[in-house]
Amino acid sequence: MEPPKIWREKRERYLAIGIQCQDCKSKSFPKTSFCTKCSSSNITEYRLATSGKLLNFTKVTSTSKEMNSYAPFFVGIIELDDGIKVTGQIVDCKFEDLQDEMRVRMVFRVLARNGEEGLIRYGFKFTPE
Ligand SMILES: [Zn+2]
Repeated sequence: MEPPKIWREKRERYLAIGIQCQDCKSKSFPKTSFCTKCSSSNITEYRLATSGKLLNFTKVTSTSKEMNSYAPFFVGIIELDDGIKVTGQIVDCKFEDLQDEMRVRMVFRVLARNGEEGLIRYGFKFTPE
């Protein structure tokens, strides 16, 4: 990812900001400039719910060169309490601790480091409640 894109998305990435359509009231994430359901541009930003339940999960043992130093790690699909579904890494637990439908909460962590002196990308991950 090029630095300009990182900085452009930084605020949404840090704050987990989605959009809510003022016409049909649907919510979506990541942020877009129009409603993904009815295409209205009458939207406002809102902060995603910070907890939810784990719908499914898996252990990643091999991935891209950039992320391989973090493997093995766990990723899951989380349904937040506001109904938005997001994918995210699940941290601070053992794989055996994870169960479908378990409660998880959002935490802010390093997502990746680009090289020894490269950019550090932060964002949200999840941990069991
Ligand atoms: Zn809409």
